[in-house]
Order: sequence, then C-alpha cells, then structure tokens
Amino acid sequence: MPDEHRRLRLSLGAYVLGEMSAAEAVALERHLARCVDCSVEADGLIEALFALTLLPEQEGRRPADE
Ligand SMILES: [Zn+2]
Repeated sequence: MPDEHRRLRLSLGAYVLGEMSAAEAVALERHLARCVDCSVEADGLIEALFALTLLPEQEGRRPADE
C-alpha cells in the first residue's frame, strides 16, 4: 500500500494531463477513492491545470484595465 501510494502519487501529473493509459487511470482512481492525501493532491493539480488553461482566455476576453 505505501508503495502503491508513492507510485500513484508520482503519476498524478500524468493522470491530470490525460497522459495515462486507461488501465493506469482506473488503478489510480481506485486509489484516490481510498486515499485522502492523493485525492486532495489530485484536486489541487486539476484546479491548477484548469486555472492555467483558463487564464489566457479570460485575459483576452476581459482587459484588466477595464
Ligand atoms: Zn495515496
């Protein structure tokens, strides 16, 4: 279990970016359901990724000096 935790935690980035095989993603999701640490970390990564992908679009649509 600790080994699985460490291995899956390191692969959270690939999971969030969608660069993971379906089988790996299933194993990771199963772990996330049981592991608060990893699920909090995954949420944080998803939020960060979401912010990164949204920011340029928002800046383009809404100038900051309005
Ligand atoms: Zn974990």
